[in-house]
Amino acid sequence: MLPLIAIIGRPNVGKSQLFNRLVRSRSALVEDIPGVTRDLRYGKASWEDRSFMLVDTGGFDSTSEDPLIEQVRLQLEFAVSEADRILFLLDARQGISALDEELALWLRKIDKPLFVAANKVDAPSLEPLSAEFYRLGVDHVYPISAKERYGLSELMDDLLEGVPEQEQERPRERGAARVAVVGRPNVGKSSLINALLGSQRMIVSEIPGTTRDSIDIEVILGDESMTLIDTAGIRRRPKVKEKLEKFAVIQALRSLERTDLACVVIDASQPLSEQDVRIVGYAHERGRGLVLLLNKWDLVTDKKKALRAFADMRELKMPFADYAPMVTTSATQAKGLDELVKAVIRTRVNHGKRLSTPICNKILANALTEHPPPAKGGRAINMLYMAQTYVAPPTFAVVCNRPEAVHFSYQRYLQNRIRQSEDFSGTPIWIKFRRKGHGKK
Ligand code: GDP
Ligand code: GDP
Repeated sequence: MLPLIAIIGRPNVGKSQLFNRLVRSRSALVEDIPGVTRDLRYGKASWEDRSFMLVDTGGFDSTSEDPLIEQVRLQLEFAVSEADRILFLLDARQGISALDEELALWLRKIDKPLFVAANKVDAPSLEPLSAEFYRLGVDHVYPISAKERYGLSELMDDLLEGVPEQEQERPRERGAARVAVVGRPNVGKSSLINALLGSQRMIVSEIPGTTRDSIDIEVILGDESMTLIDTAGIRRRPKVKEKLEKFAVIQALRSLERTDLACVVIDASQPLSEQDVRIVGYAHERGRGLVLLLNKWDLVTDKKKALRAFADMRELKMPFADYAPMVTTSATQAKGLDELVKAVIRTRVNHGKRLSTPICNKILANALTEHPPPAKGGRAINMLYMAQTYVAPPTFAVVCNRPEAVHFSYQRYLQNRIRQSEDFSGTPIWIKFRRKGHGKK
C-alpha cells in the first residue's frame, strides 16, 4: 500500500500550494463538509519515480470561532492517526506564531516520523529565515518554496526515504485476486463481509495486513481463491472513527489503491449520494474491476420502482461505469449473496481476459468499416492494427498515424465494439492510441 503523508499546518502557510505541486490526479478529491472553510483533501501524488498518498489537512485554527471547529480538530486527528509520515509546514516569512507552537507541541507527542519545512523560502537568500523554527525544538528544518519548487528535492528525498520507486503498474495475472468491499459508513459493509464469511462455501484464513488495523482474508469463492481486503478493519472495528463520513471515503480510496476488484456497497434505502459516485468514479479511474451492490434491499418496498430509479440515477451520475454489474443484497437476511459471488467471479475473469491479436484486428476492421474515424483538419486518421497489451484492466493499443487527433467519442465507440464482441462486464477497458514504431529502440 502506498504510504500516506499528511501535511499539517496553520492556515495560509502554503499547504494547498504544496499539495497541488505534488498531486497528479485531482479528480478524487474528497468533498467539502459544508460550513468548514477548509477541508481534508486527498490524492495520489508522486515525486520523481515514487508514488504516495497525500492528505492536506486544511487549516486548523484553535482560535477560530467556527462552530464546527471540534469537527475540524477530529478531522486533523484522524488524518494524523492514519498517516505514515507527517509533514509540518510553517511560513518562513511570518515566523513562529502561537498556533505553530501549539501544533508543534501536539505533534511532538505523536510517535510518527515528522518532517518540518519552512515554506515561502523563494530564493537562497531567504534561507536564514528558516533558522528561527529550530526554537520549536525540532531536529531539522527544511527551507522550501512550494511556489518556486525551491528545496523540494532535499525534503522529498528524505520524506520518501525507503519508499520504493514505482514499478511500472503491472497487471496481476497470477495469484489470488484482491477484492475490496468499500462504501460510505453504515451502508452495510461489515454486515456483508460477515454474511459472506458465514456462508459455507468459504475457507477462511486471516493474514495480518501490511498496515495497522488491516486484515487480509483468504477466501475461496466458487473455485477461485481470492483475498478480501478488510483495510479499515471494518469487520470488527469500533465505529468511532467513522462518524465523519469523509474519513470512510478516504479509507475507501486507500483500499482501492491496492485492490484488483471493488465491490462498492450502496444503501438502497437511501438516495444515491455524491460520495457513492465518487468512490465508483475512483475505482473506475484506477482500472479496477467493479461490482455495484445495492444493499439493504429488504428495506425497499417497491423494488421495481427502486430499480428503475436507481438505473436512472446511475445513467445520470455515473454513465462511465455502465459496465458494472449491479446486485441487490440484504446482508441481514443473507440474500443475494450467491449473485454477489457470481458477479465477483465473472468480473474477475473479465478483468483478466486477454484477446488474441487476430480477434482484436477483426474487431478493429469491422469497426472501421462500419464507421471510420472522421478526418480531422482535412487529414485522414488511419488506424492500422490493434492488440491487447495488458490485462487488469484489459488495455488495447491501436496503432495509428495521428494518435493525438483521435476524438474521445471514437475511443468510446471502439470500447463499445470490443464489448459487443466479447464479455467484458465488470471491467473498464482502456484504449491507447500509438504511433507506429512506438516503444521500439
Ligand atoms: P494553506 O492555507 O496552508 O493551504 O495555504 P495556501 O497554499 O492557500 O497558500 C497561502 C498563500 O501563500 C497563498 O497566497 C499562496 O500563493 C502563498 N504561498 C504558498 N506557497 C508559497 C511559496 O512557496 N512562496 C510564496 N511567496 N508564497 C507562497
Ligand atoms: P458499515 O458501516 O458499512 O460496515 O455498515 P454495518 O455493516 O455496520 O451496518 C450498518 C447498519 O445497517 C447496521 O445497523 C446493520 O445492521 C444495518 N444493515 C446492514 N446491512 C443491512 C441490510 O441488508 N438490511 C438492513 N435492513 N439493515 C442492514
